[in-house]
Order: sequence, then C-alpha cells, then structure tokens
Amino acid sequence: MKKPAVVLCPQCSREVVWNEDSPYRPFCSERCKMIDLGQWATESYRIPQADEDNEESS
Ligand SMILES: [Zn+2]
Repeated sequence: MKKPAVVLCPQCSREVVWNEDSPYRPFCSERCKMIDLGQWATESYRIPQADEDNEESS
C-alpha cells in the first residue's frame, strides 16, 4: 500500500496531494501556479538552465 505523497503548495502552503487529481502540483491550484509564474516574470528572473546531467552517479 502506498500513501499518496503530499507536498505543500509553494504559494500558500496548503497540502497538495501529489497525484493526477492535482494537475497544478506542486501548486494547489492554477491560481497559485500563475502567481508563481507571474513572480518569476515580474522579476525577470531566469531559471538557470541546469546542466544536463550526463554523468550518471552510480
Ligand atoms: Zn496554493
């Protein structure tokens, strides 16, 4: 038996069940997601492109 994973919405800290019922995860709702994206845009903050992990840590 698996417990559903639960994360906290980065915007409002509500619990979000990590499954297909939460299409906006890790956000609780589209609104929170858009707020977050809006903040990124407003600050013109660029997501640093993560170097592709070619090295597999084994
Ligand atoms: Zn939220």
